[in-house]
Amino acid sequence: MRSTRSTCPYCGVGCGVLIDTVGEGEAARIVGVRGDPDHPANFGRLCTKGSTLHLTATPLVRQRQRLLQPAWRPTRDEPLQAQDWDTTTQRIADQLLAIRAEHGPDAIGFYISGQLLTEDYHAFNKLARGLVGTNNIDSNSRLCMSSAVVGYKQSLGADAPPACYEDLEQSDCLFIAGSNTAWAHPILFRRIEAARAVRPGMKIVVVDPRRTETAEFADLHLALKPGSDIALFHGMLHACIWEGWIDAAFIERHTAGFAELKALVRTMTPSESARLTGLKEAQILQAAQWFAQSPSTLSLYCMGLNQSSSGAAKNTALINLHLATGQIGRAGAGPFSLTGQPNAMGGRESGGMATLLPGHRDPGNAAHRDEVAALWGVGAMPDKPGKTAVELFQAAARGEVKALWIACTNPAQSLPDQALVRAALERCELVILQEAFAGTATAAFADVVLPASTWAEKEGTVTNSERRISRVRAALPPAGESRADWRIVRDVAQRIEAALRPGEPSLFAWETPEQPWIEHREATRGRDLDIGGLSYAMLEEAPRQWPWPAGAAGAKSRLYEDGHFAHADGRARFIAKPFKPTAEMQDPKYPLALSTGRLRDQWHGMSRSGTVARLFAGEPGPALSMHPQDIARRGLTAGALVRVQSRRGPLIVPLRADEGVGAQQAWLPMHWGSEFLGGRGQFGINALTQPAFCPDARQPELKFAAVSVETV
Ligand code: SF4
Repeated sequence: MRSTRSTCPYCGVGCGVLIDTVGEGEAARIVGVRGDPDHPANFGRLCTKGSTLHLTATPLVRQRQRLLQPAWRPTRDEPLQAQDWDTTTQRIADQLLAIRAEHGPDAIGFYISGQLLTEDYHAFNKLARGLVGTNNIDSNSRLCMSSAVVGYKQSLGADAPPACYEDLEQSDCLFIAGSNTAWAHPILFRRIEAARAVRPGMKIVVVDPRRTETAEFADLHLALKPGSDIALFHGMLHACIWEGWIDAAFIERHTAGFAELKALVRTMTPSESARLTGLKEAQILQAAQWFAQSPSTLSLYCMGLNQSSSGAAKNTALINLHLATGQIGRAGAGPFSLTGQPNAMGGRESGGMATLLPGHRDPGNAAHRDEVAALWGVGAMPDKPGKTAVELFQAAARGEVKALWIACTNPAQSLPDQALVRAALERCELVILQEAFAGTATAAFADVVLPASTWAEKEGTVTNSERRISRVRAALPPAGESRADWRIVRDVAQRIEAALRPGEPSLFAWETPEQPWIEHREATRGRDLDIGGLSYAMLEEAPRQWPWPAGAAGAKSRLYEDGHFAHADGRARFIAKPFKPTAEMQDPKYPLALSTGRLRDQWHGMSRSGTVARLFAGEPGPALSMHPQDIARRGLTAGALVRVQSRRGPLIVPLRADEGVGAQQAWLPMHWGSEFLGGRGQFGINALTQPAFCPDARQPELKFAAVSVETV
């Protein structure tokens, strides 16, 4: 038996795994997966998803549920037909070149994924910006983390989570906001449980409209009204100022902008905060006191803050609390965003999003564009702002974007407002889908499908929530004719180069994933995330955190310990943004506030986790959860099918009674799309959700839609 050290492909905790295989070459077979005892994220533990990974790569799954060959659709009305790689690659290059020649580079868009490896991200980014000449490249991380990116940049000066997992064990107060950590990041939650067992005095505050498993574990559960987080954070800050719980010396020495924020929160008294959030004044005061007066306070936050039309402002309002109370830059203290996907961080680092450039650079900054152009050896970088996820599909629906290259994600399930997304895919002249699994909702709209290799078959790197870069390694040969994502991109790019840069040396002369990784590394030199001191060989030995510049003896596990922040003057910024209600409101026609979220045992659209029967044991199908009193008051019946209707569309699902759901609220798991709800002509959960997005982060408000519910 052989053991291959790799990383779990599910969530942003980034657990290390050992993949046990027998047989060699084509006959190799995975017989088990174990937690890597030496990986500092999980120390050998795995959750239900990680511990069943081997079942997602059995010979049967690889044969029946994977895309194994490239295929085209000769016309939109015909089925996909298998084709060889060379012909397919050339045809894609020809079609992209023709669209670019006729409509310009911005008629092409790339929609990629936080589940790609950093090497893949780099390849797509270089193709889009360096060769095609468009900033229209965005990632499904837009739905996940873009509010956290903007929050860190506005407040602290750089997109760098300042804390690390060890802070969980050193904190005296955990302030968990908008995160059901017990289900979405189970191994971190195990660490929290273990930490509290050792330190029973540790206070845990959970901010969530729903009483989740995480909330059950809290000393104080703040079940606020959906979308009212800023009113809570500003109310807590008001209390801290009034009670003298702020750290005036820290504010004076290390920050700017406090006077403006103080003026803004003057009217957000605890009673006003209580009115807006639906909480009790005493709860707000208690949370403020624990946050400010605990020796160390660490906040963990995730989609509840990020997936909001005020996502960036929610992030900065929470960071304001850390800055005002000096709860940052010390062991066990700081704002710590949890990433949903395994490599959302790598995408941020490599600039694989419309609003970013490699090495945490900014596409709106001419000097940054010139630096990247020089690094890549291209004449100039495009300067027209790129379209972010929702905008990209809206532009396609208007006919402005003619070609979409989609990789490792399933927008015909996961984007909000599915009616618009599907109209966009239908209107495109060319939809390229690069994907490992067969039969996703998006495949029905694809003109070309490209089989990608996936976990246990490919090599590269990912970065987890605590800035730790881990190697992903192959234990099996790729299934069928599937290929590594970076290699698929390289092959198309080289054909496009032949037309656009005849006779010039290739920008994509890569034979191994280490080569694009080295280019990525070079883009980080001198930047806040500098990994100039790392190499693939060092990552082979152990996962490493950034920054790790050339000559450094090690990484910085915790940032800003010297009180020097990443803004040019070294000072962090208080951001004074007022509380704003959600983009759409409940009214008599749509009286319930719907939120969506993760189940413990499923992952995203279930392409991978849906191949494992035992992961359905807890939740065999989707159900709309509502409070039993709301069910009774509306004359509904738990267990019966109900029609959920938002301003965008309907969905028919069973109803479930759940006392953890607040009054006039409803909750749906995010995982079921049309392919799982087939036969009812449904679009899946995101038929209901809304595309309104945060003006700064451009992240859509997936956590709030006004809906009605009635018996079918
Ligand atoms: Fe994988 Fe996340 Fe579970 Fe760890 S916690 S095993 S990374 S899904």
